[in-house]
This record gives sequence, structure tokens and C-alpha cells, in this order.
Amino acid sequence: MARIVMKFGGTSMAGSERIRRVANIVRRQQAAGHEVAVVVSAMAGETDRLVNFCREANALYDPAEYDVVVSSGEQVTSGLLALTLQSMGCKARSWLGWQLPMKTVEAHAKARVDEIDSEALIAAMQSGQIAVIPGFQGVSDENRITTMGRGGSDTSAVAIAAAVKADRCDIYTDVDGVYTTDPRIVAKARKLKYVTYEEMLELASVGAKVLQTRSVSLAMKENVRVQVLSSFIDENAPLADEIPGTMIVSDDEMEELHMERQLVTGIAHDRNEARIVLTRVPDKPGAVSSVFGPLAEASINVDMIIQNVGRDKGETDVTFTVPQADLARAQALLEDKRDAIGFNRIITDAHVAKVSVVGVGMKSHAGVAATMFKALAERGINVQAISTSEIKVSVLIDEDEVELAVRVLHTAYGLDRVDDTVA
Ligand code: ASP
Ligand code: MG
Repeated sequence: MARIVMKFGGTSMAGSERIRRVANIVRRQQAAGHEVAVVVSAMAGETDRLVNFCREANALYDPAEYDVVVSSGEQVTSGLLALTLQSMGCKARSWLGWQLPMKTVEAHAKARVDEIDSEALIAAMQSGQIAVIPGFQGVSDENRITTMGRGGSDTSAVAIAAAVKADRCDIYTDVDGVYTTDPRIVAKARKLKYVTYEEMLELASVGAKVLQTRSVSLAMKENVRVQVLSSFIDENAPLADEIPGTMIVSDDEMEELHMERQLVTGIAHDRNEARIVLTRVPDKPGAVSSVFGPLAEASINVDMIIQNVGRDKGETDVTFTVPQADLARAQALLEDKRDAIGFNRIITDAHVAKVSVVGVGMKSHAGVAATMFKALAERGINVQAISTSEIKVSVLIDEDEVELAVRVLHTAYGLDRVDDTVA
């Protein structure tokens, strides 16, 4: 017997028929002798719809009231799933964020889980009741409803799994696992049987949208076993216990599995980048701080940074990227500080994208970046900026060349599927 937290995303919960399919998966998992809790998202598209209502009601909406509105999508699906399970003869009830309670801290609309009282939940699960929990929502110190940022149900599920000390947290979604790259771009992309927390963290943060990044860091910190798998399966599909999806494991576990490690595990891309160049910034101490300080204060995330070698007159160009959604704000802010910073021109380009290769294998191997640059150069793809971490190399390129770059790199690192086996 195991204790399992199951999480179902928006596409899996979109409509009565799909909820019935979900209920069936849950029922079978419990019938196999396990204690289960289920965390659900709102129906696909519902949260967007609710966000729009808030905008229409008041452009400068109060985040506390926004949370009241947008958290309701999950309240609906948790009640519906409990009802559907009951119709199948299962014992089930919903547990809303404030009823658990799931205590959160920090700002509305981007709250973080602080602590979860799991005693009642565990008792319910042990008594054979299926606990259905709306993802995304919590309750603040002031006893008000909070939400945990878009995609936050993944984080709710991992937090619940940590709190009840679950043996596994199964994240059911509309894809059957984590792939070496986006299968819509590369037909020969392979499903990964295992991926490490670190790799998943990098992949999630550079645009592989399977899991909310925060859920992966929480899983890593709390050592929660997470599996990503599909809810679009038929009645007789094998249970999740057989690990049909992608299991996220620690570095040590990966070692023990003796998997043949590729240098690169996956390739991700992100079109939501924009590039800013400031020309003729004074080449003196404090100059870059006067550029990036104000951006940080405005909570604008700067990603890649290049400072060119100084020109003769003690000036230099500074190039960096920000999320496309923040470009206008960043530009206005910098224009505002033009005199204080002392740059000449500001040049922006939203038509750029970031392509990243990720793999723990590169910790111990040289030449990963060189392979990347060579493969891109052979196809005439120009690299505009570069950033690296211990297990990742990212390049900024023209947005039109993204798909070509992903395909070329997938082949260059030997990731193309040769037969039907998974990695
Ligand atoms: N419903 C929320 C969203 O769309 C949370 C989630 O689905 O994870 O962002
Ligand atoms: Mg999601």
C-alpha cells in the first residue's frame, strides 16, 4: 500500500466527460489498495476567463479580490470531481484551501505555501475517503483567500504530497511525459523515462511548460517523488504504479539506475524574450548597477547579459534580455533614467528567442557549448547572446530560426529517436 497524491490539470478537467475519466483513474488507483488525495486545476480556459472579468471590472484590480474570483475555478472542479466519485460508489469529499488549511505567505496572486495542516487529511485518507483538493488556492494570515501564481496547482500538489509524506506525486496532464524536446517541432523527440530535479528545474524555467517551476524546486527541496503522465488513457491502461510516465529523480537515484547518460538531456525554447541594447554606457564602476538596479526594483527579471569590451572613449555597449511582457515597462524606465545612466541610444528587439540545452552530463564533460555553436553556425544561425549554468547553455537567436535551431541541436546531441524505445 502506498500513499499517493494525484494531480489533474485543466485539460483533464474540462467538462463532465473528462471529469468522469479522471474519476475512473482515481477510483482504480484507490482500488489497487492505496490511500489517495487528488489535487485539481480549474477547467481549461476558466482561469483566463476569470482574470478577464477582473480586468473588465477594474483595470487596477485589488489582488485580494482577484484571488477571490480566480480561485473559484478550482472550487468548481473539486466539488464536481467529489460528486462524480460519489456517483461511482467511492467515499469522497472536497477540502478547500481554508478548510485544510493550506496557509500561504507573501503577496496575493503569487502566494507561497507556508504550512499545511495535514492531520485531518491523513485521517480521512486512512479511513478510505478520497480527499479532493482545489489546487492554486490557499489562505493568508489575515484569513483571506490567496492564489499561488499561474500554473500553481502543480505546486499545491507537491506541497500536499510533502505534507502527507506521500510515496509519490503523480501529475496527470495532456502529454504522457517529459520529452527531449517539443514533439510538435521534432517528430523524433523521445520521451524520457527519468529526468533529474535539476534538469527538470532548468527545463521548466527555460520554457518547457509541463510543470510550474516552483513545484519542481519544492519537490527537490522536500524530496517528493514526482511522475508526469497522461490522463488521456483508456479504461484498461496500466496503473501509474508501473511508472508509464516520466519520473523525476535525484542525481543519486539516477546514478543507481545506471541509465546511459547523454551529455544533453533536453532542449527547450522560449519565445517570450526581448533584447535591449544600451549604447555608449560609461565604462566605469557603478554603471551597470545604475542600469540593473532600477529594473530589479521594478521586479523586471533580467536574464542574459553581455557587456562589450570598452570602446576607446571609456564607453561600452550593454546588451541584455527581459521577458517580452516587461519590455515596454523596461524601456520606459530606462528612458527615464537616461541622464543618470548616461547611455546614448536604446535599441530593442522583441523578435528574438532563447534556445537552451540542458543536461547534468555537462557537469563532467567539456565541449557541450562548442558543439552547440558549431551546429548553429553550420546552418547560418547567428548567436546574439549566451548564458550558461552548470548544467545549461542558452543562446539568444532570431525568433524565425527557433524551430530550425531546435531540430539541428536535437540531432547534433544524438537525441533523435532511432526506434520506438524511450530514453
Ligand atoms: N488554474 C490555474 C491556472 O490556470 C492554476 C493551475 O491550473 O495550475 O493558472
Ligand atoms: Mg499547468
